[in-house]
Amino acid sequence: MNTLPVNRETEEQLFFHNYSRLPIAVTHGEGAWLVADDGTRYLDMIAGIGVNALGYGDQRLEQAITMQASKLIHASNLFMMRPQFELAAKLLQLSGLSKIFFANSGTEAVEAAIKMARKWAADNGNGEKNEVLSLSNCFHGRTYGAMSLTAKPQYVEGFHPLLPALGMIEFNDMEDLELRVSGKTAAVFIEAVQGEGGIHRVSKAFSDRLMALREQYGFLIVADEIQAGCGRTGTFFSYEQLGLEPDLVCLAKPLGGGLPLSAVIGSEKVAGVLTYGSHGTTFGGNPVACAAGLAMIEAIESDKLMERATQTGAFFQEELSKLALRHSAITDIRQYGLMIGITVEREAKYYVERALQRKVIMNATSRNVIRLLPPLVIGREEAQYCINVLDEILTEEKAGA
Ligand SMILES: *Cc1c(COP(=O)(O)O)cnc(C)c1O
Repeated sequence: MNTLPVNRETEEQLFFHNYSRLPIAVTHGEGAWLVADDGTRYLDMIAGIGVNALGYGDQRLEQAITMQASKLIHASNLFMMRPQFELAAKLLQLSGLSKIFFANSGTEAVEAAIKMARKWAADNGNGEKNEVLSLSNCFHGRTYGAMSLTAKPQYVEGFHPLLPALGMIEFNDMEDLELRVSGKTAAVFIEAVQGEGGIHRVSKAFSDRLMALREQYGFLIVADEIQAGCGRTGTFFSYEQLGLEPDLVCLAKPLGGGLPLSAVIGSEKVAGVLTYGSHGTTFGGNPVACAAGLAMIEAIESDKLMERATQTGAFFQEELSKLALRHSAITDIRQYGLMIGITVEREAKYYVERALQRKVIMNATSRNVIRLLPPLVIGREEAQYCINVLDEILTEEKAGA
């Protein structure tokens, strides 16, 4: 039994080489802690890339999954399924929007939103209206449409030609925004807080101007809340804090409580855009994933995890600011609830590797940004532990160790 070694060598043999996995074989977890097959416990500050909002081992989540799995695992959208209906109703209530479509992953939600935007523009425009815009440094996913929107050299190299009629607006640059949008614009995709891009928030002025231009030219605003949504920044949707009113919203990552699930939620304006047969998916809205998602949202509400994200986030900000005063290697801190970016002088990888030696899992993004996306349930002592480890590494670095 268990003769197949779960290690780097086997990984090399078995898989395409598209991931840079940590050399840790994980088996289970507890709260904010992830446990490896040798028993080592790691404080997890990345939470399955922003997925595990409730951390590990939440009983309510496990029960919801077990209960639904014992009833029905899959039937497809040829049928009506209660968990889907209940999660849909909950998300419409939380967003104040009108209609929902379920898919399986973030990139699929973005694909659906691109299709809806083009279809809506075709239904409402003059045939010239098909351009889809995004913001510089954005990340929307890996499938063709989403990847084309992302258009960062490292994501698109070798994969040309990309989707046509796309364009990019310089992040938070009002002049560029005015310049790029026109009557040909079908939609503008934005992350209210950019995740992979290094934790940067769209300014209120930019968001307001975008809404004013939508009035003028009649395009859709699509909020990609895949990373920042579901309470991570202190409100269920991160755009709420800007007063932004999107026409379409994409959700994924934590939405299925760790199971693959995504959603596109739309306003009344786009309620009629999908007609019978115009879009679909076999697995989208899987009942087990929906039951898990519902349990996850109920736990966020009953445990007041959004308030907790705000408070723990503020604690991080305070403590990290103190670190920055003592260590000049930290050049900037950006914190929105429990979405935290720490800009450092050298490659962030240096800190990530040293944190791992001290059993804290962090993540590097945009070369010199340390990204923290801890589970929303992380406690203050755990936050302090993470900060102490950063302090140790920075101190050692200064001493030239
Ligand atoms: C992760 C992410 C995606 C892609 O989601 P997948 O589930 O990996 O396809 C899209 N947009 C944002 C903002 C993300 O963080």
